[in-house]
Amino acid sequence: MAKQDDLFKNIVSHAKEYGYIFPSSEIYDGLSAVYDYAQNGVELKKNIREYWWKAMVQMHENIVGIDAAILMHPTTWKASGHVDAFNDPLIDNKDSKKRYRADVLIEDYAEKINQKAQKEIEKARARFGEAFNEQEFVTTNARVVEYLAKKKEILERMARSLETENLADVKALIEELEIADPETGSKNWTDVKQFNLMFGTKLGASAESAMDLYLRPETAQGIFVNFLNVQKSGRMKVPFGIAQTGKAFRNEIVARQFIFRMREFEQMEMQFFVKPGEEMQWYKYWKTTRLNWHLSLGLGKENYRFHDHEKLAHYANAAADIEFNFPFGFKELEGIHSRTDFDLKAHEKHSGRKLQYFDPETNQNYVPYVVETSVGLDRMFLAVFSNSLKEETLEDGSVRTVLRLPAVLAPTKAAVLPLIKRDGLPELAQEIIEDLKWDFNVAYDEKDAVGRRYRRQDALGTPFCITVDHQSLEDKTVTIRHRDSMKQDRVKVSELKDIINQEVSMRTWLQKI
Ligand code: ATP
Repeated sequence: MAKQDDLFKNIVSHAKEYGYIFPSSEIYDGLSAVYDYAQNGVELKKNIREYWWKAMVQMHENIVGIDAAILMHPTTWKASGHVDAFNDPLIDNKDSKKRYRADVLIEDYAEKINQKAQKEIEKARARFGEAFNEQEFVTTNARVVEYLAKKKEILERMARSLETENLADVKALIEELEIADPETGSKNWTDVKQFNLMFGTKLGASAESAMDLYLRPETAQGIFVNFLNVQKSGRMKVPFGIAQTGKAFRNEIVARQFIFRMREFEQMEMQFFVKPGEEMQWYKYWKTTRLNWHLSLGLGKENYRFHDHEKLAHYANAAADIEFNFPFGFKELEGIHSRTDFDLKAHEKHSGRKLQYFDPETNQNYVPYVVETSVGLDRMFLAVFSNSLKEETLEDGSVRTVLRLPAVLAPTKAAVLPLIKRDGLPELAQEIIEDLKWDFNVAYDEKDAVGRRYRRQDALGTPFCITVDHQSLEDKTVTIRHRDSMKQDRVKVSELKDIINQEVSMRTWLQKI
């Protein structure tokens, strides 16, 4: 655990030191769970957004994008169920005065039991080697069977109690399991209460006429209310999708783990409208397609897994998360939900307008079903950033810090470094920059010894360093150094653009999907 904590602290401080993420309004001691993207962070975030947008919109003929407003008519949130049901169960500790999500306390407890089972499994795997049959072991080893059954029982009871709004039982469960405040160890709990996560605000100048609004807690509803506008103006034929990226706001009870759970964050969502009855086929299609998108970034297949939901939200008939192995364990990165016709029907009911598709093949009107893919941009950022940060011991025993970002996402693609600050080398370096900057973000660095400059660019995640030396003046060649292999090649200045492009172009990466 201590090692995990250290790793995580390292990630947070690296993000600040190298201009990726700052705490919001830091000179006033920051604002809890709100962060600012700095000069490099904004580029990485933009590149992730673009990578998603191209994969979803540009590469699919039947998907278009929109950019709906953050503020929406308040009835939207009544129709979507957010006014009545967008709650988290919270519990306070009377001694420490700390507030927690009751479901998270219970889930963490269940995960600890799961970890015990996993430990037994790993021990057995080491003991039996090749001959180990995991499936058989988890169903026959008494201890493992007991752990897994206990975990299941706890999670099922919690799901039942939450579903039936039996908050007294959620508290009883916490007490029976003797769950303590993770920070202080106190078991002195208040009752469990529901807490609505939407931020309220007001529209209008005078107090009497002001209208109560919400900052949107998800981008999806902006798509649903525009469904017919897009379908008609774009002459879209079912199945088709509408994609959107944008800010969402949630007054999270416990906001921790850096940009994993923020109060203001960005989502990248796509709602895919299908013929009723065909939703399961599309649900499967999008599960696979989205996982392949993640895998194309090369962060390691073993770092992803699906978590199929047993307890479904009020609007869904199937749902799964793509979980990523964050520095604090596997957690939700993206949700894929088969939302039925719940949203469009609810908006029909509350608005009194028809939100139906006329199928020219059957001459019938129907309300389409929806399959949603929803990924947090900030969580993607954290996944990419935390997975990329490495400390490597080199052959000479020295340690280098390197941010092995997928080259397609790196904020700066190349740094151009004159070996020394005179003899016309800076001028030639600038000439190279003048040419490359039309295609890529490039940086210039002339300070310190070249070795130190390489290390700085490694820590920033820049895939290439281009060094200009005296030979460059004579034959227009330079050294190009690759961040990951540290290999250096002598190449012609005229070849630089193609070499860089080959490694960073979205085309190369998207073709892996
Ligand atoms: P969680 O269970 O972690 O609270 P959720 O199931 O409420 O997430 P969704 O409503 O499905 O999340 O939102 C879709 C995606 O938006 C999530 O997969 C996640 O990547 C992102 N997301 C949700 N809440 C936050 C948040 N507070 N901060 C950052 N990203 C978030």
